Amino acid sequence: MNIVIMGLPGAGKGTQATEIIKKYPIPHISTGDMFRLAIKNETELGKEAQAYMDRGELVPDEVTIGIVKERLAESDAKDGFLLDGFPRTVAQAEALNDIMAELGSQIDSTLYIDVPEEELMNRLTGRRICEVCGTAYHLVFNPPKKDGVCDLDGGKLYQREDDNPETVQNRLDVNIKKTKPLLEFYENQGILSKVDGARDIDEVFADVDKILETL
Ligand code: ADP
Ligand code: AMP
Repeated sequence: MNIVIMGLPGAGKGTQATEIIKKYPIPHISTGDMFRLAIKNETELGKEAQAYMDRGELVPDEVTIGIVKERLAESDAKDGFLLDGFPRTVAQAEALNDIMAELGSQIDSTLYIDVPEEELMNRLTGRRICEVCGTAYHLVFNPPKKDGVCDLDGGKLYQREDDNPETVQNRLDVNIKKTKPLLEFYENQGILSKVDGARDIDEVFADVDKILETL
């Protein structure tokens, strides 16, 4: 089961990914998480990615494609994976097809979580993340039981630096431009499913799961 989850920033990719991997034991591979870890560990990759992420721009394709290629070649991805936040451009989607062909495999399904642009600013500026397990909460839409504390492990919740209104606006502008051709690419390949993401988290997951159960 090789799946891609797509959607504009804040559409709920990470939130749905958390639900998906509870049911399907496949690695959740998020390029955003990989870049944030590299920045935290002060690696060369982190230094390269930081300025782009701070501005809300995309990290250049060759860098991003390189890390995904390495990651998908790891043994835990052999029997399936859930890619989150990649591809974001047609060039990345084409590269992903090449990577899969080299691995003797293919992408089985791409899910697009569809949320109106107007909702995304609120979702992103209200997002809070557990510093231990990475679970995403929302101050209003999905609050933790206790303010500032993760329900699952008691970890402290923090706000991502790029979840400020100015950077969010830039991330939305950048991603909106890239999304239409990306969706056309997968529509032409016959592996695109769109899910209405402007509903409760469990309702969205029910639709996502209906699609995954057919794979
Ligand atoms: P993405 O990974 O696509 O950027 P997240 O999964 O981190 O998005 O979700 C962004 C924010 O929106 C988080 O604060 C999350 O709790 C909240 N959220 C996710 N799904 C929903 C939903 N269906 N309804 C309302 N809020 C949601
Ligand atoms: P995310 O965690 O998915 O919101 O991504 C955070 C940031 O990481 C983005 O704003 C980009 O700067 C960078 N990033 C993540 N995935 C990609 C990608 N596929 N291509 C380019 N940049 C990416």
